Amino acid sequence: MIRASKFFIPTLRENPKEADVASHRYMLRAGMIQQTSAGIYAWLPLGLRVLKKVEQIVREEQNAAGAQEMLMPTLQSADLWRKSGRYDAYGKEMLRIKDRHDRDMLYGPTNEEMIHDIFGTHIKSYKGMPKILYHIQWKFRDEIRPRFGLMRGREFLMKDGYSFDLTKEDAVHSYHRMMLSYLRTFTRMGIKAIPMRADTGPIGGDLSHEFIILAETGESEVFVDKRWLEKDLTAPGLSYNDRSALKNYYDEITSIYAATDEIHDSSKCPIPADQLVSKRGIEVGHIFYYGSKYAVPMETIIQNENGEMQPIEGGCYGIGVSRVVAAIIEASHDENGIIWPAEIAPFDVGLINLKVGDAVTDSVTAQVEKALGAAGFDVLYDDRDERAGVKFADMDLIGLPWQVIVGPKSAAEGKVEVKNRKTGDRAEMPMTEVAVHIKKQKAG
Ligand code: ATP
Ligand code: MG
Repeated sequence: MIRASKFFIPTLRENPKEADVASHRYMLRAGMIQQTSAGIYAWLPLGLRVLKKVEQIVREEQNAAGAQEMLMPTLQSADLWRKSGRYDAYGKEMLRIKDRHDRDMLYGPTNEEMIHDIFGTHIKSYKGMPKILYHIQWKFRDEIRPRFGLMRGREFLMKDGYSFDLTKEDAVHSYHRMMLSYLRTFTRMGIKAIPMRADTGPIGGDLSHEFIILAETGESEVFVDKRWLEKDLTAPGLSYNDRSALKNYYDEITSIYAATDEIHDSSKCPIPADQLVSKRGIEVGHIFYYGSKYAVPMETIIQNENGEMQPIEGGCYGIGVSRVVAAIIEASHDENGIIWPAEIAPFDVGLINLKVGDAVTDSVTAQVEKALGAAGFDVLYDDRDERAGVKFADMDLIGLPWQVIVGPKSAAEGKVEVKNRKTGDRAEMPMTEVAVHIKKQKAG
């Protein structure tokens, strides 16, 4: 349990001028982040709690899909990128640095080169295959126009994973694994991210999907079959190791139309107009099969079962972890502030004592606090000496899923009020029933 009077949570009453979208505005106002340079942010305690929750869900779902976590550095040697040819090709988005020995370094915008180098150093034969490796690490891209806060920052947290397989067929299986893993990941966060066919550029093929959250402030226009909006995408019970069932699931999911405007062609759209909705979307993840594109220049060559040397078949899988935090707010807020899905909320419950110092409200608050703690809820207790209006406004702004309000009148009867932030529903109840009530609502 954390007390608001001691917590570093510098909320702002006014809308910051520089913030054009809800997520940026509310994250600044709720004291979650602070800009330190253009497109670069410090995460304050409240914001960090959300970032860590998002990161942990990503991690657990990656591990469940058979991927293994590692951690690569942020700084990379330019020579690795010269080898792939991307040092010059990447352009001004790459932050280039010289060390004291005048060696060219860079702050990694992504890690294909490094992971191929690491993998290739150690794995020389089919016996070390297949593998999916990932890390969750800060990236830097010197975006020409960083904007919308964390949505398009220059420094941002990304989960990037890389699969190493022997054959295209195996690589496609890895791709299917990641498709399911991503859909389970986003569903667990309480959001719907729809996989949309994306441009594969010069490599061609159809194995590239962007995961898009629908929100008015999205940067791209997207076209979605209505069936996406109701469908459960998580395939409960489906095992990652059941290749054919996984393929069937993939085929079924991807047969439902959804495309970004780069791909969509209204004259060739396969589904009837009354079944199509056009909305704006935010890209929170991207998966891509790239074959031997990096393995050839990076010499990630292994011996196959026939004794022949061949490049590995690869794919990469990104999630914009810090962007997800902002995207969820874009998809879930109202005019009073953020509405956190329960799974990633910084605290489960905001406890408001309307008369701090009053023996009865203090005692009831302490008992509710104890019961919520015992039931496993994280509680933010607003014990500040502030007006009720300020406390209500701040609590709505921060957007915790439940508020428990302890006022002197009902406290005298041992009662408190519980408010559901999302529905706005309020219910008065005996203080002994609060934990059970919230538990029930959380279970859905
Ligand atoms: P975009 O098209 O939005 O510039 P991208 O296609 O260049 O993104 P990827 O290389 O696919 O990005 O990176 C994987 C994920 O990292 C993206 O799906 C996105 O969620 C996130 N991401 C990319 N650039 C940024 C950024 N500047 N700020 C925050 N998150 C980002
Ligand atoms: Mg992308």
